[in-house]
Amino acid sequence: MKLHLNKLRLGMRGSELTGNGPHESKYNEKICMIIPIRDREYQLEEIVPRVEEVLIEQNLDYRIYVIEQGERELFNIGKLINIGFIESQRDQFSDYYVKTDVDIYPITNDVLNYSPYDGVKHLYGHLHTIGGVFSFDKASYIKTNGHSNEYFGWGWEDVDFLERLRICNIEVDKSAHIERRTSRLIHDAITKANENSKNETKESNQRFLDSKIASYKEDIGNIKNDGLNSCNYEIIERYHYKDNPQIIRIIVDV
Ligand code: UDP
Ligand code: MN
Repeated sequence: MKLHLNKLRLGMRGSELTGNGPHESKYNEKICMIIPIRDREYQLEEIVPRVEEVLIEQNLDYRIYVIEQGERELFNIGKLINIGFIESQRDQFSDYYVKTDVDIYPITNDVLNYSPYDGVKHLYGHLHTIGGVFSFDKASYIKTNGHSNEYFGWGWEDVDFLERLRICNIEVDKSAHIERRTSRLIHDAITKANENSKNETKESNQRFLDSKIASYKEDIGNIKNDGLNSCNYEIIERYHYKDNPQIIRIIVDV
């Protein structure tokens, strides 16, 4: 396996990929991928072999952190991403991250470039926000104090994160961004099961977003009250998914 990877490393560099534009892959060519989930086992089964193939093809060494909300309360994707980031620090594998939804993956190996990126780069999702698939580096994520931990249910934590990036003067690279469902080369499932719970919290979370943005405007320091440094959770289980040492699955109570 090692030989195989070395061979790939010599053969092709990430920067030569056509997908998501050229960016220099001069780093350590290692990334941590964070996948937040709950109740999407079948989608996890689908995405893992697909992204593993893409990562190997793109000459990247990787760890995949599958962060799963154990308890039944409202889903909290922002907090799960924070937990993936915090838990990855134990391994010190890479300072470069890709967050992906579990139900979004490339059909071909070059349409999404997962290579390390210095800063924040939106690869796939709605342009007006930053969800779906995006790359970031450790320093940028610490600067924003990660995501807010306080959005439960569906929506707006991504807009909150965009606002954090803006006030921290971190530009989002959109040079190779692909809008949702405009490419037949990217699988993006419509998962009906969530539709009801989405509607439940959509409006209240939007009001919450307004109050958060007002608080950030009042004092930038307010991002320090909610995020990585206030992310409390309990680990229920931690193990290697399918005994694969490169995939760490962590079940948490948020
Ligand atoms: N998610 C999950 N379980 C849920 C809700 C969300 O695993 O009950 C995760 C999963 O990674 C999913 C992402 O959060 O891809 C975004 O949720 P969803 O796909 O429902 O949002 P949409 O694609 O409709 O924006
Ligand atoms: Mn989805």
